[in-house]
Amino acid sequence: MDVVVIGAGLSGLTAAAVLREAGASVQLLEADAQIGGRIRALRDPTSDHAVADLGPTWVWPNHQPVVARWLDILGATTFEQFNEGDAVVVGYGPTPLRQPLPGQDGMVRIAGGPSTLIDTLTNRVGQINIRRSAPVTEVSEDGPDHMAVHLGSGEIITAQKVIISVPLRVAAKTMHLPWASSALIETMRGMPTWMSTQAKAVAIYNKPFWRDDGLSGRIVSRIGPLAEVHDHTGVDNAPAALFGFVSWSPEQRRAEPERLRLAILEQLSDCFGKTAARPLDLAIQDWAMNPRIVNELDTLQPATHPYIGPANLRQPLLDGRVRFAVSEASERSPGLIEGAFAIGEKAALELLGTDL
Ligand SMILES: Cc1cc2nc3c(=O)[nH]c(=O)nc-3n(C[C@H](O)[C@H](O)[C@H](O)COP(=O)(O)OP(=O)(O)OC[C@H]3O[C@@H](n4cnc5c(N)ncnc54)[C@H](O)[C@@H]3O)c2cc1C
Repeated sequence: MDVVVIGAGLSGLTAAAVLREAGASVQLLEADAQIGGRIRALRDPTSDHAVADLGPTWVWPNHQPVVARWLDILGATTFEQFNEGDAVVVGYGPTPLRQPLPGQDGMVRIAGGPSTLIDTLTNRVGQINIRRSAPVTEVSEDGPDHMAVHLGSGEIITAQKVIISVPLRVAAKTMHLPWASSALIETMRGMPTWMSTQAKAVAIYNKPFWRDDGLSGRIVSRIGPLAEVHDHTGVDNAPAALFGFVSWSPEQRRAEPERLRLAILEQLSDCFGKTAARPLDLAIQDWAMNPRIVNELDTLQPATHPYIGPANLRQPLLDGRVRFAVSEASERSPGLIEGAFAIGEKAALELLGTDL
């Protein structure tokens, strides 16, 4: 095996696809039964088509050249985030306000959602080269030229090179890295995983009925339980959907899941009328309950906007045998889809530029 890539999120898949394209033999190991990491879709149970995003939704290709290039490479198209009409603004006065709110410059959605990127990259890497439900517990040296990757099952895979595409705090806690200095482990522990404490709610409807009332589908609320809501209707106006970020704490969400569902439906109904209380489906994806993504340090500390981490996260380790490639390690747009593409591609090209 030339390279083992650990973690099949967007960074790991991008690295694996670049390596495969160059003819390297690659094994991509994913702890979860599903691949995609923080990119996940609510899927139609019959057709398996992605109907809504449970992780990221937006990209900014006008300002993100790596995203623009990779959308092109993967044949993905984008469309505008719907923002016509009034938003409902709650908690900023005695009664809810209706007013238009500006959108963000250049913010667009990917037709079919970001999970289409995962599907296309998976095909490029080849299912045969991807193992699911294969958590890595240790990465150690195997002589001067090779690395040994230990799986939870006890199996050991040897490879010339290893790319670690796992959230840095999760890797520091769950993987034994005997060669890593304490300074490196401290740096990893210091890097929050972007959005890892968030929960996202998606409500699916027959039609985007709020648009008929001159509403954009947007809510900004100081009261919650959804702090912000957006129209999430698919390209070609189907399926109709709304999504919102949950403002309850992870503890509250865990303690009272049914009350959360009822509170979300009540809030949507208060803002958009009774039809909103009867969605075809209401899905809540709680990222703070996924130990492959979140770490207790993320839940204990207030969320900060992603920042560029120290350079030792991007340096080749063990004479270039090991590299990190997860969005938070990127110098460009850390924490975002742009960061995941950039660091995955960079790590793979750097490996190929050595002696692979
Ligand atoms: C709710 C939400 C909304 C977001 N919104 C946006 C947005 O609008 N725009 C944007 O640009 N970005 C957004 N993001 C961020 C974006 O999703 C991430 O930047 C990107 O998906 C990170 O990909 P990654 O591959 O670097 O990491 P991850 O997706 O975290 O992948 C890491 C993988 O490693 C696996 N793993 C963990 N431990 C092990 C182990 N021991 N062995 C093997 N595998 C392991 C995990 O299961 C996971 O599959 C959002 C994220 C969330 C959660």
